[in-house]
Amino acid sequence: MEPNIFKTADIKSTQKRRLLLLLLQKQQRPMTAEDLYEKAKLLVSINLSTVYRNLNTLTEKGVLSRTIRQNGKAYYTFISHVHCHRLICTSCNDIISVESCPLGELQETLEQETGYQILEHSLEFKGICPECRSKK
Ligand SMILES: [Zn+2]
Ligand SMILES: [Zn+2]
Repeated sequence: MEPNIFKTADIKSTQKRRLLLLLLQKQQRPMTAEDLYEKAKLLVSINLSTVYRNLNTLTEKGVLSRTIRQNGKAYYTFISHVHCHRLICTSCNDIISVESCPLGELQETLEQETGYQILEHSLEFKGICPECRSKK
């Protein structure tokens, strides 16, 4: 978690906001307020309207982005400024972010060899998480 995210966005760091961000960061996929509420309520006492209110604040401050999908529901995504890659379990869709990037050197070599200025890259690892492995 980026430590100064609340400072940068100029909002108070509360336990509930930190929790919502952590949940979104861990999932690394867009989630609805209901999704987040289902997860958050297992960890702290929180109600759905508090989740909505905090998601609104975080969105207004540019910490989260909100998109409305065809089903009419609002999905929230954490806007991460940290470059990272993802490790995804193909069995249960659990996602871990991998914060180190092994591609910096390769990127430089490629730029030198091709003359491209490389702007970004993406890389996902897929596999079976320990929990799913132990079930088999
Ligand atoms: Zn799994
Ligand atoms: Zn990378």
